[in-house]
Amino acid sequence: MKNSKQSLYAPYCEALEALNSSSSIRQIKDIEQDGKYIILNSKNGSAKRLLNFSSNDYLGISNDKTLREDFLKKYISSGNKISNPSARLLCGTSPVYKKMEEFLAEIFDKERALIFNSGYHGNVGVYSALLDSSDVVFVDKLNHASIIDGIRLSKAKIIPYRHLDYEDLRQKLIKYRKDYKKAIISSESLFSMDGDIADINRLADLKEEFNTLLIIDEAHSFGVYGNGKGICSEQNVLSRVDLILATFGKAIGSYGAFVVGDGVLIDYLINFARSFIFSTTLPEISIAFSQYVLKKRILANNTLQEKLFKLNDNFRKSVKSFEIMGESYIAPVLIGENASTVGFSRHLIENGFYILPIRYPTVAKNTARLRISLNAGLETNDIQALADCLNSLQK
Ligand code: PLP
Repeated sequence: MKNSKQSLYAPYCEALEALNSSSSIRQIKDIEQDGKYIILNSKNGSAKRLLNFSSNDYLGISNDKTLREDFLKKYISSGNKISNPSARLLCGTSPVYKKMEEFLAEIFDKERALIFNSGYHGNVGVYSALLDSSDVVFVDKLNHASIIDGIRLSKAKIIPYRHLDYEDLRQKLIKYRKDYKKAIISSESLFSMDGDIADINRLADLKEEFNTLLIIDEAHSFGVYGNGKGICSEQNVLSRVDLILATFGKAIGSYGAFVVGDGVLIDYLINFARSFIFSTTLPEISIAFSQYVLKKRILANNTLQEKLFKLNDNFRKSVKSFEIMGESYIAPVLIGENASTVGFSRHLIENGFYILPIRYPTVAKNTARLRISLNAGLETNDIQALADCLNSLQK
């Protein structure tokens, strides 16, 4: 029995060993949150308290104790349920979802919204539903894996264009658009691994010229840019985008995702997006918390957003020894090889900064980087301390 198990598992052991020898192995860390710090527990029983520069909680919402306590008090005293364990199309819809979807449609000035269980569910559901093998989708080369997985499920042709290179996209549209029935142009607004920002108006021009849908993923920008409404709003292009997807699991500090668009597309997704149809819906408490955060913190004023932009300006000015990619609060430092990136990350962790290496295959070969993400829970002196540590490193 033992032998047969060993031989059955051998291919998986070999694959893991290959990852280990190329410094690409992923492991779940033992971590506790402590305000702007995390406590990193190691296997030998020691623990390190580190400033958290790896979170997607860009506005520091998950550490806002007052907000959390106020929400829980109101939510529980109103008799609301914690969860609604059914798929939406069975008996999983209640006023909490309805109110939230109406609220989201209003924020984006779109006809309708549809909540998905996560951004991953959203992208997989949207692309697999809207496309089939006679269709084509033009994707920015750095689009998130969930978009690619959704397209793969649809069996549509994928044509990647060079990152943010709209002339390359145009050439590809000229060459391939005519060979397919339906077509989509797909881009993130703020790219999560490079920290740079798409020009959505250029994409909308191409969408109109080549008769395609345009879908924008605002996972990392919703809540911060455009007074909290995202980059499509900031670039004044909302009405030219067919579907916007955004998540609650990053700057909103909650969990879940949604798409907004025309009623016909939302009705189509309700009928064809399998990740929506065949999955139990999000706990109501998550939806209600996301709405509470949006109303009380994100859309009420720009205090947190402005603090974050200021921290980002300071950080980018203070780091002299490395080039920082992009322009946003996602401020990655490009290193190159996996092994040296892992080494730099270890050094930063030893010095009190929780910054992880992002390696191939998550990013292209030889573009491994330290993904530094800033958040509004940090202070100017924290940012300066990290800049000083980076400036002291030898490339
Ligand atoms: N879209 C983008 C651009 C992302 O970066 C991510 C996650 O990091 C997702 C979608 C998936 O969102 P979620 O974490 O809610 O599944």
